[in-house]
Amino acid sequence: MTSMTTTGKATTVEQGVKLIRHIHATAIDLPEFMDRIEVLTTDPRLTREILETAKSRGIIDVNSDNTVVFQRAMRDPRLNSITHKEGEYTCKRCGSSLVNGYFIGEQNEIGPFGPECVRKLTDVTLKQPAEG
Ligand SMILES: [Zn+2]
Repeated sequence: MTSMTTTGKATTVEQGVKLIRHIHATAIDLPEFMDRIEVLTTDPRLTREILETAKSRGIIDVNSDNTVVFQRAMRDPRLNSITHKEGEYTCKRCGSSLVNGYFIGEQNEIGPFGPECVRKLTDVTLKQPAEG
């Protein structure tokens, strides 16, 4: 039983909202915003639902020029958690193999990603040991 359930869909939307709350940018273009959300789903209905959910909760605004503006006051500092685990992982964003997997969310639910992809997703530069 691996079919997509409504629970799975709701989980993806909540993960998307969580990812958005980890983005440190002040504002980004809508296409770039969508590009970031697409690490979780490429279903256009779901990416739209993530956008609308974040908007309805006051986490973002979308301006008439298609700029997504992040509402700083809506960022919960406790949600600002990126952890890493050593192990063999494949980056969920670019598919490269990793010796350190980075995860977003207090329950490590979004990931794994490489450090460069974390930076592209959240604008957070991670302190990391030098690696090839
Ligand atoms: Zn990557």
